Amino acid sequence: MKTQYDAVIVGSGPNGLAAAITMLKAGKTVAVIEAKETIGGGMRSKELTLPGYVHDVCSAIHPLGIASPFFAKLPLKEHGLEWIFPPVLLAHPFDDGSASIVKRSITSTVRTIDPNDSEAYYRLMQDMSSRWYQIADDILGPLRFPRHPFALLSFGIGAIQSAKNFAERHFKNFRAQALFAGLAAHSMIPLERPLTAAFGIILGTLAHVTGWPLPKGGSQAITEALRSYISSLGGEFYTNTPVASLSELPDSKAVLLDITPKQILQIAGDRLPEAYRKKLEAYRYGTGVFKVDFATNSPIPFKNDGCRQAGVVHIGGTFDEILESENMVWSGKNPKFPLVLLAQQSLFDTSRAPEGKHTVWAYCHTPNGSTEDRTEVIENQIERFAPGFKETIIAKHSMNSMDFQSYDPNYIGGDINGGVQDWRQLFTRPVISLRPYKTPVKGLYICSSSTPPGGGVHGMCGFHAAKQALKDVFNLKAKL
Ligand SMILES: Cc1cc2nc3c(=O)[nH]c(=O)nc-3n(C[C@H](O)[C@H](O)[C@H](O)COP(=O)(O)OP(=O)(O)OC[C@H]3O[C@@H](n4cnc5c(N)ncnc54)[C@H](O)[C@@H]3O)c2cc1C
Repeated sequence: MKTQYDAVIVGSGPNGLAAAITMLKAGKTVAVIEAKETIGGGMRSKELTLPGYVHDVCSAIHPLGIASPFFAKLPLKEHGLEWIFPPVLLAHPFDDGSASIVKRSITSTVRTIDPNDSEAYYRLMQDMSSRWYQIADDILGPLRFPRHPFALLSFGIGAIQSAKNFAERHFKNFRAQALFAGLAAHSMIPLERPLTAAFGIILGTLAHVTGWPLPKGGSQAITEALRSYISSLGGEFYTNTPVASLSELPDSKAVLLDITPKQILQIAGDRLPEAYRKKLEAYRYGTGVFKVDFATNSPIPFKNDGCRQAGVVHIGGTFDEILESENMVWSGKNPKFPLVLLAQQSLFDTSRAPEGKHTVWAYCHTPNGSTEDRTEVIENQIERFAPGFKETIIAKHSMNSMDFQSYDPNYIGGDINGGVQDWRQLFTRPVISLRPYKTPVKGLYICSSSTPPGGGVHGMCGFHAAKQALKDVFNLKAKL
């Protein structure tokens, strides 16, 4: 490792890599230091079950990636990234064999929604889709005076509500309500809490604006494209280098930490003023995840035809069922019938499994730090809507919340969002500040998903943190 860089990035998740790119584009020298053997954080793929079966260890589906204003400006296609768009983006099956089916076109989606709800769904999605880019400009970063107040207001009126309130007010039939619950449950907080509707509206809208694609070859392909671009700009990588203290880093004018408050306290706590340290200590982490990857000898035999064509299937039954299971997780218990978030990548990407064989990615939420084995519970939920699924399994690989933390130290207790994303902590992460990326230590910045706009593979936290560092340290203005 050289002894001097303009900027050192600790951690190579999407946000660390986005911070590196922003610095490099401004002409700065950059080193990215990663604890693990390979870079990528939550964007890595691996043969977890059997040779020839490529599974996404963490992220798999990328509405936030394709909609990211930061990624949109990068030549990722030239660096090998290819998005695949399944014909059905999302399916949500029910016990009677029916399913809510979300396609890219709002009109096609409306046909699968109960006639009583089709107008409400159409109006909502048409309105939000037409304003999406203005809304995105105001919500995918730190708090500031809105640039598009009218668009933000029309989004905000619904977004601040609880998912329960919103679904009950907007939709009459259980199918549309349940569809909304599955989307909103990505918040990983109880669906009766304010702001949970925001997650449902955003993810639903993105289905129609950009789609919910998967990268050809797995999420690793995003990492490879970013790595290739960073190398072309002269950035350097150091892997197998867990940083235990800031004093281990080469000299630099700026350090950007793609890690969460708990780890920041460990590696930089001695340099932080007490008041700031206390705020980081009070930072709250959310629920965890349990995930199973399956290798199967046929596609999942879903009863519903739409589910058999879907990139993602939300398996959790009705709104009330999802509400109850998510509440249980929040209160520290593992439900018998959890919401299972499932992706079937190999149906659309033949590079993922040997000919005729398949991969399935499925996870459910668990209490933070839970080590309970949820493999059978997940299998039972899939079997409920796809009788015969269990017989198709050739091999499986499970990871509990603590396995995720060992795999990526940012997933504290299995929290995949870098901290709770409720109204108290979504835009005020990790502390209440108009410049949340900046720490009180000169030249030290936080760029992980523990800063706005939070979890997901979009790189916006990294971009905003690097933008702040460029302004403060180098007196430079970064543009997307
Ligand atoms: C099971 C699962 C499913 C998910 N599904 C999706 C999905 O489908 N779509 C989506 O958009 N998002 C998904 N996510 C969330 C997404 O992966 C994260 O929100 C995202 O990766 C966060 O990016 P980040 O850069 O902030 O941190 P990370 O991606 O977590 O990267 C942090 C990096 O820092 C490294 N690091 C930590 N401590 C140190 C240290 N001391 N020294 C050096 N390096 C260190 C870690 O090893 C890691 O490589 C999922 C996550 C999981 C676990």
